[in-house]
Formats: sequence, C-alpha cells, structure tokens
Amino acid sequence: MLTVNAFAAPSSSDLLEPVTITRRDVGPKDVLIEIKYSGICHSDIHTVREDWGAVQHPLVVGHEIVGLVAEVGAEVTKHAVGDRVGVGCMVDSCRECENCLAGEEQYCLNGNTGTYNVVDSDGRITQGGYSTHIVVTEDFVLSIPEALDFAAAAPLLCAGVTTYSPLRYWQAGPGKKVAIVGMGGLGHMAVKIADVMGAEVTVLSRTLAKKDDGLRLGADHYFATEDPETFNVLKNSFDLILNTVSAPVELASYLALLRRNGTMVNVGAPAEPLPLHVFNIMENRRSFAGSGIGGIRETQEMLNFCAEHGINPETELIEAAYINEAWKRLLAADVRYRFVIDAHTFA
Ligand code: NAP
Ligand code: ZN
Ligand code: ZN
Repeated sequence: MLTVNAFAAPSSSDLLEPVTITRRDVGPKDVLIEIKYSGICHSDIHTVREDWGAVQHPLVVGHEIVGLVAEVGAEVTKHAVGDRVGVGCMVDSCRECENCLAGEEQYCLNGNTGTYNVVDSDGRITQGGYSTHIVVTEDFVLSIPEALDFAAAAPLLCAGVTTYSPLRYWQAGPGKKVAIVGMGGLGHMAVKIADVMGAEVTVLSRTLAKKDDGLRLGADHYFATEDPETFNVLKNSFDLILNTVSAPVELASYLALLRRNGTMVNVGAPAEPLPLHVFNIMENRRSFAGSGIGGIRETQEMLNFCAEHGINPETELIEAAYINEAWKRLLAADVRYRFVIDAHTFA
C-alpha cells in the first residue's frame, strides 16, 4: 500500500483538512498516477454535504484528475511511465452488462465504480482526486492530448464530458438553437462546446453579470432569467435546452421555451425532485430528459475534440489550503469558471 497526502471532508459539515490515505498496490493492469491538477466540481460538495444520500466520512472527493503516469503494472499496454493522463468520475465498471459493452460504462447496470464514495472491488471506499496519487485500472485512464493545457484540462474530465455527451447525443450543430441554463463550471463548457459544434447558442443565466464572458466564450445571445420578460421573448424557441443548474428550477417556465419536438436535458443534479406538469411536454411534443457524465470512449473523443478545436476550460488555479474558501465561493457562484487545485500543494 502506498500512503499519500490528501484533503478529506471529516463530516458533512466540517471543513476539509489534510490527511494521509492509502492507495492499493499497483496490480498487473493498474496505473499509478502522480496527480498534477484536480478540478473542483459542484458534485464534490453535493456528495460531502449528503445532498444525494448518506456518505461514509472522512471522504476524499475530486473526479477531475490529470497527472503523469508514475508506474504501470506488468500487463499494462495503454499507458507508459511519464504519459499525461486523466481520470474522471469512474474508476471501473462491470464491463459485462449491455451498457458497458456499448461503451456507456456510466450507465453500468451493476453500478459503475465512482472515483469516490463507492465500494471498490477490494471492499474499500474509493477516495478521489484531492490527493497526490491515485491507482486506477488502465481501461479507465484517459490520455490527455499534448495540445491541451495540462492544468486547464482537468475540468474536461467531468464538466467537459458531462456537457459534450448530451450535446452530441441530441445533435447540437448547425441549424440548431441550443440554450444553456446556468453558466458555472458545466455551463461555460457547454457554451464553448455547443458553439464549436456549430449550434446557435443562448445562455440563460440568473443575471447579466457574466454576459461579456458568455459572448466571448461563444454564445450568440445572453438573457437573464430573473427578468420575467425573458420567458415571454423566448417562448417556443429552442431545439435543445441543457440545464446545468445545481439547484431546482421551475421546469414549466423552461419547457415552454422549447419549440416543436424540442428536448430539455437536465444535467444539474439538485437534491430535490423537480415537479413536472405533463401538459408542459404534451404541447409541442416536447421531451424532458437527463444525462449522466459520459463513457470512457466518449470521454477520450471529447478530449481529442477539445484538443483539436482549442477548447480549454477557464480556470482559477488554487492551493490545497484554499479549498474551503473555494467551496464557499463555488456555492455563491463566484468562480470564473472552475477551480483547479495544484496537487503538489497537498504535499
Ligand atoms: P457550478 O459551477 O456551481 O454551476 C452551477 C450554476 O448554476 C451556477 O454558476 C449558476 O449559474 C447556477 N445556479 C447556482 N445556484 C442557483 C440557484 N439557486 N438558482 C438558479 N441558478 C443557480 O456547478 P457545476 O459544477 O457546473 O455543476 C452543476 C450541477 O451539475 C451540479 O448539480 C452538479 O452536481 C451537476 N453535475 C451533474 C453531472 C451529471 O453527470 N449529470 C456531472 C457533473 C455535475 P448562473 O450564475 O449563470 O445563473
Ligand atoms: Zn463532476
Ligand atoms: Zn456494466
């Protein structure tokens, strides 16, 4: 076992603090990664705060990981020592079910092994990327193309793929009007990716405070949802609405913005249920859907797409000691647009 430095949440309410944890020995198909940068996703906070259910604390979160391969097991063929690699929200899955065989391990019918807070095959709870090292089976380790800025690449592993996957599935592209609700970590990636895919992109943010940024990132239009007039002006407009908001939204108002056959996809994951009135989807033959992260193959495709098109997340690099302040600011939507932790400060 390898003892490594990390930052853990001791409970659902205490501040995160430095700890040491152990990583399993490098098995034949394992890769030991020296973590360089680790992004902060809103899901880290939802999980620790037990918004989605009970958690076994202390817990190390973090599932936007990039680093260098430090050691490989004897049977590893996909990665070599020194390679730039990444790990996202999953570190394993059953690999046998229909969904795994389709390359959609995120929907593993036996439950994928999340990067943190899930019982691993060795019976221990997985611990995430707010740490100096992690051991992951090679099939769940991504390659980070050279063209991507290394620190900025970390958020692609969750925020990038979580927005890329539904934008691809629902065919955001030329001739499609796409609205992105909420311009945080996920939302700002969605704007960049949908723009590069060729869609006409509208941001629906609570206020106009980030309008200049939104237009710079690739949006064609930007509206404030705190202005009721927005919901009149944009009625029956969009083919696709991607909701990235971490809190409940009033579904009826947003569904009314979909044109005929339009789809609203929820990737935001508030703790509370969202009441849906069926008349809001019967009209215009609308759909309401959800989407969860992306499979390993699609995550690599997204990384290559971002490298090819020069898509880099907008990040604020922080030291580990700043994590608690960063969480406070993230909850106040005071981040442009993703915090990334410099992992050598865990040491
Ligand atoms: P984030 O950076 O905090 O962004 C969320 C954005 O939602 C904020 O920037 C803000 O945008 C808006 N917002 C926040 N509170 C709001 C409120 N009370 N009412 C209305 N709007 C509000 O979070 P994130 O990391 O992008 O994650 C967003 C959500 O997606 C979280 O719930 C996270 O758990 C979830 N998630 C889901 C998946 C998946 O697989 N489906 C993967 C990753 C994350 P404006 O200031 O522009 O209004
Ligand atoms: Zn995430
Ligand atoms: Zn499976």
